Amino acid sequence: MPYDDNNVFAKILRGEIPSKKVHESEHALAFHDIRPAKPVHVLVIPKGKYVDFTDFTARASAAEQTGFYKAVAAAAKAAGVVDAGYRLIANTGMNGGQEVPHFHIHILGGGSVGPMVARG
Ligand code: AMP
Repeated sequence: MPYDDNNVFAKILRGEIPSKKVHESEHALAFHDIRPAKPVHVLVIPKGKYVDFTDFTARASAAEQTGFYKAVAAAAKAAGVVDAGYRLIANTGMNGGQEVPHFHIHILGGGSVGPMVARG
């Protein structure tokens, strides 16, 4: 799937719509999810144009990938979930339930996140 410049996270990166920033670095931006599923629900996105995890790991440079994952760790720290624990989710593609076609990782915490996924 080609990258869609009109996806909502591309608009956030361009400053066309607002976000509540948690952390920013050269390669990534972290902000609060607009519809939090848990008390802490932060999204981390690379600044480059990557559709999903598969696309990011295939095409992003080593510096972008390292910078991105370090930003996920920094965002978790900034969100205050490191000591008690948290969950990372990267919904990928149709079966993964991905809604926004710009690669992102969800950081969920602030209380027990519950069972990993519904079985079946
Ligand atoms: P996914 O299903 O993994 O693609 O998750 C997309 C996430 O983006 C959902 O949790 C939405 O609540 C969130 N979202 C959509 N629009 C915005 C926005 N403008 N600001 C922050 N989060 C958003």
